[in-house]
Amino acid sequence: MMRNPPTLNPHVDLLERFRACARLHPNRVAHRSADRSLTYAELASGIDATAALIWSQLSPDGSPVVIVGHKEPEMLMGFLGSVQAGHPYIPLDTSLPAKRIEQIIANSGARLVLTPQRVGEAIDRTPRAKRRPEASIDADAAFYIIFTSGSTGTPKGVTITLDNLTGFVDWMRREQDFQPGGETFLNQAPFSFDLSVMDTYSSLTTGGTLVSLTAREIETPRLLFDTLRSSGITTWVSTPSFANWCLAQRDWDARMLPRLRRFLFCGETLPIALAGELLERFPDAAVWNTYGPTEATVATTSIRIRPSMLSHYATLPVGAPRPGTRIVLVDAVGQYLAAEGASGEIIIAGRNVSPGYLNQPDLTSARFFDFEGQRAYRTGDIGHFEDGLLFFDGRVDDQIKLNGYRIELGDVESNIRALPEVREAIVVPVERDGRVESLIGFVATDVLTPGETDFQTSQRLRRALFERVPAYMVPRTLRRVERWPLTPNGKVDRRALARLAP
Ligand code: AMP
Repeated sequence: MMRNPPTLNPHVDLLERFRACARLHPNRVAHRSADRSLTYAELASGIDATAALIWSQLSPDGSPVVIVGHKEPEMLMGFLGSVQAGHPYIPLDTSLPAKRIEQIIANSGARLVLTPQRVGEAIDRTPRAKRRPEASIDADAAFYIIFTSGSTGTPKGVTITLDNLTGFVDWMRREQDFQPGGETFLNQAPFSFDLSVMDTYSSLTTGGTLVSLTAREIETPRLLFDTLRSSGITTWVSTPSFANWCLAQRDWDARMLPRLRRFLFCGETLPIALAGELLERFPDAAVWNTYGPTEATVATTSIRIRPSMLSHYATLPVGAPRPGTRIVLVDAVGQYLAAEGASGEIIIAGRNVSPGYLNQPDLTSARFFDFEGQRAYRTGDIGHFEDGLLFFDGRVDDQIKLNGYRIELGDVESNIRALPEVREAIVVPVERDGRVESLIGFVATDVLTPGETDFQTSQRLRRALFERVPAYMVPRTLRRVERWPLTPNGKVDRRALARLAP
């Protein structure tokens, strides 16, 4: 008698779903990155060895474990090894400057920092029998903490629980109907950004293959498109900016990615022109726009973009909230706006909302609250509903997206002001076609280096800034100003400064 192949039970914890994949298909490729490839069995064994290492180093107090690396498979071992040992993890990419990494470690209270090398050594040293056996964590326990830009110049850590993440992964799996064992996911975003959570856990809990792009591949078009050509990916997960950049490659189309079934975008506005071009180049792939902040577990709304939408709307919708999640709009004084078309701040309420910022109760209570019995988050995003769909209309504050990266202008300004000779700094976004293209900084400095041109001063200050903030936060130029343009009530006139930008 023919027996049905064993299937995964989706109603168990995420770690157990991963382990089930490893038991059912130990030889299936779980992760590929650069020239390395790792099976489910190898990944599971590495996770056990990492859990054993963490167990031997830390008391079970739930303190976070920082994992600093790039796209190495040991990063995944570090993530799930931490959780298996009862500790949430903080993923940090090596592209971050050392100062920023130190700052995050200090503020997080982490007592253990792992690197791919350390994880690799643990695997070599730990005999199979000593590897940490299965353990499980509570649904309300922190699973990961992702740090994002903070307006005061210090990154803030968003805590995401096992329950937050499980709800997200379940929604994605159901909505996208991922085929167990049949998907190959593109992992473009660094693990330190929560967009990577979409591909990583969708893949590892459904027996998929995760194909990570390294920074070197992304910077080298020949390598990048060679990797894509041989990737076999079925699910593309990236920022719209990255896909937009790929468009320059003429043969980036269905012939290069014949198995591609869907694009999943999140993190910034999906331009109509990009969606249109993708629908033409990849006629068999669906294009999805999803929206949401890190604080509400990767994405909260979604919509499949149909060709008819491209000419129907001025901007593309970000969709409808996932089941069980509510979106309400409020005006400047917090009044609930019910009317279709009314524009207001987007509030997200539901199971996907984080408990708050790590070790920052004041910031947490400023942005998180209880809304009709559900945890809610004030996003700072402005939106409106049309045809029952949510549209993103901008921000209430100085947070921007540059090439998909979330940046608080205040973060950049505080770090410029921290440079020894800078008295004041204001950073403004340079926009084209409604999209931020670059940043420009205006600075008042005390000390002038004799004989130095403005360009040299700018380059010198930029070099110093690269040591404090990620490269994408460093303004293209830092211009010296003698006198600030002021608004009638005496504040620095940011709009006047923006007009000075080239
Ligand atoms: P992050 O926490 O890095 O994911 O950034 C979240 C912010 O990115 C949101 O609060 C929005 O401002 C913006 N964002 C996310 N998804 C979209 C989208 N689909 N369209 C427009 N903006 C988006």
